[in-house]
Amino acid sequence: MLLGFDHGEPIPSILVQAPSDPGCALCGRPTYDPDKRERPWARGVSAGRQVLICPACQGDRPDWNANLDRCAACGSLRLGLTLGEVVCRQCGHVGASSGKPDSGA
Ligand SMILES: [Zn+2]
Ligand SMILES: [Zn+2]
Repeated sequence: MLLGFDHGEPIPSILVQAPSDPGCALCGRPTYDPDKRERPWARGVSAGRQVLICPACQGDRPDWNANLDRCAACGSLRLGLTLGEVVCRQCGHVGASSGKPDSGA
């Protein structure tokens, strides 16, 4: 017997890899795998913390990267945290965070 059991069950799109993944730093949406035609999530460091910015916010907000830290050496936003230190993925500069006062006296 063929029952028209076309329920159209939604597939849960929970692709969170780490339980502590904060999602988008701007809109708070959980991380997901963007379509290949979309731009990828942006990684950055804000106030010494690793943050992610979703593709939608990158497109909707011209100032989406205004709060991200920049590399002190090359100015790149492509920063990452390694063992608590900010490392520039562009030039390899370590300690790019502008949070610490630079007492070079
Ligand atoms: Zn967002
Ligand atoms: Zn750099």
